[in-house]
Amino acid sequence: MSLVFDGDGAASTSAGSQKALRVRNIELVVGTLGNDGPQTQAMLARRTRLSPGTISSIVHELAAQHRVSARSTISAGRRAVEIALVPDGRVVVGVDVGRAHLRVMGMDSGRRTFGMRSTALPAAHVPAETLAIARHMVDELLTEHGVNRSDVVLCGVAFPASLTPVTGSVVQASVLPGWAGIDLAEATSRALDLPVLLENDANLGAIAHASAGPFTGVRCLVFVKVGTGIGAGLAFDGRLYESASGIAGEIGHFQLVDDGEVCTCGSRGCLETVASTRNIVADFARIRPDDHVDLDDVIAAVTAGDPAAMRLLHNAGAQIGRAVAPICNLLSPDVVVVGGPLARVGAALFDGLVQSTRQRSLPAATKHTRFVMSDLGDHAEVHGACLLALRRVMAEGHVRASN
Ligand SMILES: [Zn+2]
Repeated sequence: MSLVFDGDGAASTSAGSQKALRVRNIELVVGTLGNDGPQTQAMLARRTRLSPGTISSIVHELAAQHRVSARSTISAGRRAVEIALVPDGRVVVGVDVGRAHLRVMGMDSGRRTFGMRSTALPAAHVPAETLAIARHMVDELLTEHGVNRSDVVLCGVAFPASLTPVTGSVVQASVLPGWAGIDLAEATSRALDLPVLLENDANLGAIAHASAGPFTGVRCLVFVKVGTGIGAGLAFDGRLYESASGIAGEIGHFQLVDDGEVCTCGSRGCLETVASTRNIVADFARIRPDDHVDLDDVIAAVTAGDPAAMRLLHNAGAQIGRAVAPICNLLSPDVVVVGGPLARVGAALFDGLVQSTRQRSLPAATKHTRFVMSDLGDHAEVHGACLLALRRVMAEGHVRASN
């Protein structure tokens, strides 16, 4: 702001400062609601460090402009009123490219999700085919919900691999062999005909839980994804921890067995070679040698209370706990969320993981740690992809034409 030193300069500058401050505070409140989702006025005051009176006045003004709405909720066991942004017509899309699945979902600017759908992908799938399927699924989703393509401002895309922060290329080629060596951001944006934002899938699981729901903004949240691969995402104060290399949270390559099976990373005996869903299915096949089994059969057996299948999952959880325990000693996290396709089968894997983690870490380090199964199941990553995109849109206020 420029200062004008004339007769009534002091007065007009003061009035201008007040107005500018008010605009900044309104932007801060809108940005916080966009970043952290619906919340009470008390939470808004804590996060923005504005006084309760200022928050109340701003919420009143925004409500009169129909930019926010109030809704009843329960907070800390008590009835409370949450303030939420009113959707403004802008939409983001999330795409989760897995090693064996593809999932898409939409989210409006009020954080309401719509149109989730998924399909299986063949082993060793390659970009051209997979991205063409993704484009088709996104188009279907938009048509079904009457959303114009021009209203989609950004698309978050999850990949089951570490990505180089600047180029978005796959750091570890062995994880998605057919996807290595290409400009992933450019290829994805061109195929989907949308601006894109790429991120590792476990990181997006962390975002899904650290920027929405009961753990929004907690000091330290660890998301552990158990799937064909095993990885972790870290979020501090609701913000994703992003390393310069793009490689962080790769707990799947924690070495458990010195001379074990060769891993995709070239090492031997990594956690991923012992406790991934691939191992669980292979072990289950030994119990059911007459059947061709897949993960759904394991899940069905566990759901039916099959003791052998439950024991397999418990043992896998115990192995994963060996890698989660040192993370707990290092970070003493507030929350550890366990996600991936096995999240929906409940206690078998989870109990093994928690017991093993507690047994192998300092009691004081996990004394206040809450261990939970992801309530988003295997949708956490696509949910996180939408939230990441929406947060970027809210933070920038506009979107670049392409990535
Ligand atoms: Zn490895």
